Amino acid sequence: MMRTLIAALSVVICAAPLAAQQGGRTGTPAAGVASAAARVARAADTSVMRAHLEFLADDALEGRAPGTRGGELAARYIAAQFRRLGLEPAGDSGSYLHRVPIISLTPEPTLALGGRPLRWKDDYVLWSMRDEPSVELAAPLVFAGYGIVAPEANWNDYAGLDVKGKIVVLLVNDPGLRDSTLFRGKILTYYGRWTYKLEEAERQGAAGVLLVHTAESATYGWSTVTGSWTGPQVRVERPAGSLQVAGWLRDSVAAEVLRPLGTLEELTRKAAARGARGAVLPAQATAAVRSTIARSATSNVVARWSGRGAHRAEAVLIGGHYDHLGVGSPVDGDSIYNGALDNASGTAAVLAAAEAFVRSGVRPDRSILFMAFAAEESGLLGSTAYAARPSVPLARIAAVVNLDVMNLYGPTRDIAALGLDQSTLGRVFGAAAKAEGLRVSENEDALVKGSFFRSDHFPLARAGVPAVSLENGIEYVGRSEGWGEKQQDEYTEKRYHQPADEVLPWFDYRGALQQLRVALRTAVAAADAPAQPTWLPGSEFRAAGQARVRGR
Ligand SMILES: [Zn+2]
Repeated sequence: MMRTLIAALSVVICAAPLAAQQGGRTGTPAAGVASAAARVARAADTSVMRAHLEFLADDALEGRAPGTRGGELAARYIAAQFRRLGLEPAGDSGSYLHRVPIISLTPEPTLALGGRPLRWKDDYVLWSMRDEPSVELAAPLVFAGYGIVAPEANWNDYAGLDVKGKIVVLLVNDPGLRDSTLFRGKILTYYGRWTYKLEEAERQGAAGVLLVHTAESATYGWSTVTGSWTGPQVRVERPAGSLQVAGWLRDSVAAEVLRPLGTLEELTRKAAARGARGAVLPAQATAAVRSTIARSATSNVVARWSGRGAHRAEAVLIGGHYDHLGVGSPVDGDSIYNGALDNASGTAAVLAAAEAFVRSGVRPDRSILFMAFAAEESGLLGSTAYAARPSVPLARIAAVVNLDVMNLYGPTRDIAALGLDQSTLGRVFGAAAKAEGLRVSENEDALVKGSFFRSDHFPLARAGVPAVSLENGIEYVGRSEGWGEKQQDEYTEKRYHQPADEVLPWFDYRGALQQLRVALRTAVAAADAPAQPTWLPGSEFRAAGQARVRGR
């Protein structure tokens, strides 16, 4: 260990830039010569990963919260590493930094339906969708079922409805919850997510959205709703759209408002049938939100390793978020939320991926972007800001490989990832895993919970860029069956988003190295492919994908 560490550190601190010294080509290797993908994979180094992780997760970085000293330090460290490696700046104005303007709005709402004032937190929650200190509106209510427009599923809940300037009342989740032959059955599609409901209602010109909360459809209770949407709403500053307010109605209140159309149970059953039609409600709504506003900013950190081929203006993005929760309420006297696994490990893997390309000198046809996303824990803010204002046009970002929480429990016989069933990138990942002697396993639980929508690849996927996000395998070498799940449960219970997620003596980097090698092979294959990966016919991102490439 000591010898390797000194070698790694000497590379980390003094020999810069490396890039100029090497310039290997890709393409079909001669017999006995390792492929480009293999060369990059073999250049991945656990001691490099470990060195970065231990620095980023150190108490000195104070949990790397956005806009704090620790967060700033982490961003500068990552930029300095990109510079040391001789990577090109790919942020704003020739720097490695890509600005992320953050706004936090703390709501004080009032809401009356059909002239009856409702009780905040007991009956409803409501927040402003405008970056303004106050909004108020009076508008008709329209029930629009699940509020879904899915061309690939020939489904349109807004057909025949004019909701411009109105407030729409919507069910959450998707019809697959009720009818497993629809959408992807029990697997939550993006159409089921509350964020999708707001986005589609805005595309339809609505002035407000009221989501109907039931524990079954939301997959969490009313206390989570009040806990999440009554305090500061942190988001990326956004240009004003048609939406002014958004909120949740408790199921009992929603049932009363919808009664003229039928019971909530009946309406939900009808809405899950093909061809269901929404309707205008007799009740009018009057809503107002005063918001206490605070503005701040943080930065994504992004660098480019230029490709050598005809497609070098395009790029494959390898990324992971570098922020975590900072300093918070103490647990056993420890108030620093170090975020060693989440996500110093992924950030360290992104830096080690960059180093592997530079050390191997491999330059694929397309370029590679290395991205440390900001403010993921605050709601995917860095990746949302990047998708809205990319430093490389989205049509030229061929694919995303996201690294959020690496496997530090030891080597496995399998590997998993989110997004494999969404685009042809899944096949590329499968081939890469096979080349590393790993079986691809599916994480059913993650699919049902909608984990694909909960990390930084998602805002880019929503904008049409095919993406995969790596997950841990479950079959650990030398361990009994179920050991992996036990580690996962123990992490979720004791360390996830806790001060205890810090560097631990038993960290074993061999599993993370397996993941990194598969990620590198996937990136090289996508970067050398004659065409960009595409979304599969049943994917809810296919339309966005087609629109993206049309923008080429
Ligand atoms: Zn994370």
